[in-house]
Amino acid sequence: MQPWDEIAHAIGRTRREFLRDAAGVTLGSTLLRSPFARAAASPKKKKVVVITFGGGARDQETFAPEGQENVPNMLRELIPRATFFTQVINRGILGHYVATASLATGAYETINNFAALPPENPTVFEYYRKELKRPSSDTWVVAPSNGFNHIGESSSRSFGPGLGARVILPKHLLTAAISNRHADYAHLLRDNYETPYFTPELSGSDFELEQLEQLLKLSVDDFKMHARTLSSPDELSAYITKQLMRQVAPSLLCITMHDIDIAHAGTYSLYVEGIRRTDRLCAEMWKTIESDPEYAGKTTLLILPDFGRDADNDAGGNGFQHHRTGDALSRTTWLIAMGPGIREGVVYDRAVDALDLVPTIGSMMAFTASLSKGKPITEIV
Ligand SMILES: [Zn+2]
Repeated sequence: MQPWDEIAHAIGRTRREFLRDAAGVTLGSTLLRSPFARAAASPKKKKVVVITFGGGARDQETFAPEGQENVPNMLRELIPRATFFTQVINRGILGHYVATASLATGAYETINNFAALPPENPTVFEYYRKELKRPSSDTWVVAPSNGFNHIGESSSRSFGPGLGARVILPKHLLTAAISNRHADYAHLLRDNYETPYFTPELSGSDFELEQLEQLLKLSVDDFKMHARTLSSPDELSAYITKQLMRQVAPSLLCITMHDIDIAHAGTYSLYVEGIRRTDRLCAEMWKTIESDPEYAGKTTLLILPDFGRDADNDAGGNGFQHHRTGDALSRTTWLIAMGPGIREGVVYDRAVDALDLVPTIGSMMAFTASLSKGKPITEIV
């Protein structure tokens, strides 16, 4: 059997070939400066938006020729204007909360995925706020399930209390806005796709309603009415995120998409529908960034999955449905980086670690992620 890193490298190389054919992007070189890179904003004014791509999808349904019809927006609108990394390795635990927490801390977290605990290492939000003395309104996480409630602030003693990101849980907002379990909203309220047994109940609906009205400037009735028109939880997250950007304009914003993870239910068509929706929502987010004066021309957008899904050929896996085996395919994802100062239409297939995200954001915004285990991705900082 081939060593693990060789398989990961082969996945990255193949991904690059797919993209060269579909999006016309070329292999990057740090020796060349693209004429298409626009001037970067000064770190002080800079904003960074991170989107996690929905619980992960395989290349067969995304970048491979047979999958490309599912990601037209990434292929035609985003990747030609982005630097793309074909090989982002996740060496941690493949549960969505713990993996997203690891992305947020730059250290592989070992907290129980289903225990609603804060990360143990300082989060990027704490580094950002502590070093740059930023207020709590300046960094937010929009998260898909109640289990992500503590992702904004670690249990680290030297950081932690009072220094984290504010976390907004759109489903929790919706639950607070409707007085009882209302059939009209059931499709938006499922907490996660992996286990029905873990749905932490959060209290404090007054606080949520205040968030809606004071902060997002949405009346409860308008919010409920609009939610009824939305087809999925990620649509709800995107709607709340846009409202947050318009009203609060945070400089460091993380949105966790999760619809794709409906794959666990085993219905292939729902999984593919989730991919198509996430592809569209990512492009819409970039359009929002470009059209909002608070964000346009000074925002870096980073899109990456938390991890992938099992390969079909692994005896212990179930292909698209799960991420149980920890095989190379489920650990080898990708990264799209776009915005001022970032080269356009360039692909790198060297291995980048999922932990590199936090120090990279640190280099972009001029703070040090002192306890993170990753390294800044030099091609985009
Ligand atoms: Zn999952």
